[in-house]
Amino acid sequence: MKSIAIIGAGVTGVTTAYILNQLGYKVTVFEKQRYASVMTSYANGGQLSASNAEVWNHFGTIFKAASWLFKKEAPLKMNYWPDGHKISWISEFLLQTRNYRKNTIATTRIAIESRKQMQKIIDDAGIDFDKSDCGILHIYNSQREFDHAHRVNALLAEGGLERRRLSGSEILEIEPSLTKKFVGGYYTKTDSTGDIHKFTSNLADVISTRGVEFKLWTDVTDIKTSTHEVEIVSQTHGLEERADRFNAVVICAGVASHKFGRKLGDRINIYPVKGYSITVPLSDSIAQQKAPMVSLLDDEAKIVTSRLGRDRFRVAGTAEIAGYNLDIVDARIKPLTLWVECNFPELPSKDIKPWAGLRPMRPNMIPLVAKGRKPNIFYNTGHGHLGWTLACYTANMVGELIAN
Ligand SMILES: Cc1cc2nc3c(=O)[nH]c(=O)nc-3n(C[C@H](O)[C@H](O)[C@H](O)COP(=O)(O)OP(=O)(O)OC[C@H]3O[C@@H](n4cnc5c(N)ncnc54)[C@H](O)[C@@H]3O)c2cc1C
Repeated sequence: MKSIAIIGAGVTGVTTAYILNQLGYKVTVFEKQRYASVMTSYANGGQLSASNAEVWNHFGTIFKAASWLFKKEAPLKMNYWPDGHKISWISEFLLQTRNYRKNTIATTRIAIESRKQMQKIIDDAGIDFDKSDCGILHIYNSQREFDHAHRVNALLAEGGLERRRLSGSEILEIEPSLTKKFVGGYYTKTDSTGDIHKFTSNLADVISTRGVEFKLWTDVTDIKTSTHEVEIVSQTHGLEERADRFNAVVICAGVASHKFGRKLGDRINIYPVKGYSITVPLSDSIAQQKAPMVSLLDDEAKIVTSRLGRDRFRVAGTAEIAGYNLDIVDARIKPLTLWVECNFPELPSKDIKPWAGLRPMRPNMIPLVAKGRKPNIFYNTGHGHLGWTLACYTANMVGELIAN
């Protein structure tokens, strides 16, 4: 039986391990942290959203982003310290505006395929992760934003996604807990939500009973290649460094994939785009009634929400281009709490849990599923703002690439 190492036990690494295990490989997952799924795949927005497949490489979005850079509580922040990686990433991001249309359609298709693949995993592994088939409701405060939404909708439709256009009053029929009036919206019934951490860690538990080995708290420090095998040099917490040999390796290391690519002679242009979330505890019956059941995406504020089970309401957003930094900055959490207070004034704003994570973002915003230059090296990484939505299908794609 051929052996494969996977670096990273986030959603991409664990779904890849699942597929390779099903294909009959002997799989070992290396994870630097003590537990699976505690980095970016931890407290994200929760949306499984083909409807959010629009890539950000659009002139309108870029002009809007430029105006945000100087506003204190805007959804985008940038650290202006010059750094070669940041400059090359932003330059490529701007160049990718020419592929906006193509990449939006491609992302929609992957997201739709990923839903089917996720359903197969759920049916087979029987895991619970507070999944809700509630649909996702995009809401617009201004006519300008709503007009752009119609153009985006045409691209999503080309990718195969059906959505319903709503007037301001129809929005309230779909989600009566909204108190503000909106210009209009789009509802995607086939989108859903769920807890990425529960899914990934529960799936990791299931596949470890099926023979996948997890080497947790184990930092991969080097990868050496030869024609027939790869050597993974790693150090488990508190132990000596060791080397293990495999037939191949798949890099699913989130924002660290850039560093591994450099070591292996591959240019993997992944930049960490930081985002924040808050989890609002719905600890009493009033809060549980007043929190929305449908998942929301406020396009102007760039905020997404998910109801996770009966007693949690997750709100996420912001993009911060500030390097490999996981500090939770109060000024970035505030717009999320203010958004909740403004839209759902009856929800509690105490005891909220703030969190920050780094989106592993490629300039074209499309995940990388590819072979490396050196033999037996594969990548399934760079899922950016949509890793939860896309991971189940890209795992399948990398499985096919390896098997063929
Ligand atoms: C605020 C926010 C909201 C989001 N909302 C959504 C959403 O609503 N819907 C959606 O689809 N997506 C969303 N995303 C994106 C999604 O969460 C990510 O795309 C996804 O979690 C990335 O998964 P990953 O496996 O690539 O990375 P990770 O989960 O970070 O996994 C990579 C793993 O590699 C490990 N690793 C790194 N280096 C080493 C090493 N040297 N040795 C061993 N292990 C190593 C890390 O410890 C880590 O566990 C959001 C992201 C953020 C930040």
